[in-house]
Amino acid sequence: MARKLVGKCLCGAVQYAVRDEFVYAANCHCSNCRRTTGSAFKPFAGIEREKFAVSEGEEKLLIFGDSSGHDAHCGLCGSLLYSLVREGAFVHVAMGTLADDPSIRPSAHIFVGSKAGWFTITDDLPQYQEHVIAGSVDE
Ligand SMILES: [Zn+2]
Ligand SMILES: [Zn+2]
Repeated sequence: MARKLVGKCLCGAVQYAVRDEFVYAANCHCSNCRRTTGSAFKPFAGIEREKFAVSEGEEKLLIFGDSSGHDAHCGLCGSLLYSLVREGAFVHVAMGTLADDPSIRPSAHIFVGSKAGWFTITDDLPQYQEHVIAGSVDE
């Protein structure tokens, strides 16, 4: 059995459990990710939806979007916890909400074409103007 990781929002009302089996992880610099997090970029890790579950406070979620794709925030404190993507097949966990350390590490910067001018990437990870490979990291 794979290790399970837990995560939660700022206030703790919403908690989730996810298998430590992320398929990919990246730092997304697109304007949507910047706005929804208030940060220079969003580190996220993707996994099949069935390997992720909200364990507490599901009724407190604030869903921005629809059943095939949305951002899920805590309705009390506003933390972005995860996004449902790829027609609902995958979840992109906002890595900043993980309480446990996942095995995966972000392997690329994506949507660098939309990067904030005030932020400079200082690591050696590959940079992509948009997606890494069409369909593999659908943010
Ligand atoms: Zn909260
Ligand atoms: Zn993005």
